[in-house]
Amino acid sequence: MPICKECGIENDWSVDITTKICSECHEKITTKIRQEKEKVQRDTDLGKKAKTYPSLIFLSRVAKFIAWVGVFSSLIIGVFYIITLNRPSIMEILFPVLGIVLITFIHFVVWRAISEILILFVDIAKDVREIRLKK
Ligand SMILES: [Zn+2]
Repeated sequence: MPICKECGIENDWSVDITTKICSECHEKITTKIRQEKEKVQRDTDLGKKAKTYPSLIFLSRVAKFIAWVGVFSSLIIGVFYIITLNRPSIMEILFPVLGIVLITFIHFVVWRAISEILILFVDIAKDVREIRLKK
């Protein structure tokens, strides 16, 4: 009488003589293997989907660049403005320069913030992916 090496059942009908596994255990084992294969496939699919978001990283760099371009162009504009003035009064220098500084500061902060937010999105996406893969 063949005995199943998995569950120990003794049965002529269901236990395979060569593998010594009954049909019920055979079913269980193949299901388990299939599920494991599917899980591995899911994980690799997730890994492929969540890349590094190169476009977001690029846009973040562009935003950073725009922030600095604003600062440099303001400096140049400011210097040229002062040069073109003919014996300017203190008010003629002070107010436009303060205006330029204020606008430049706002421009810089806004574009740097955009740059940081884009990087933040990439980081969040990476974290979410890692958490998902751990499950
Ligand atoms: Zn069995």
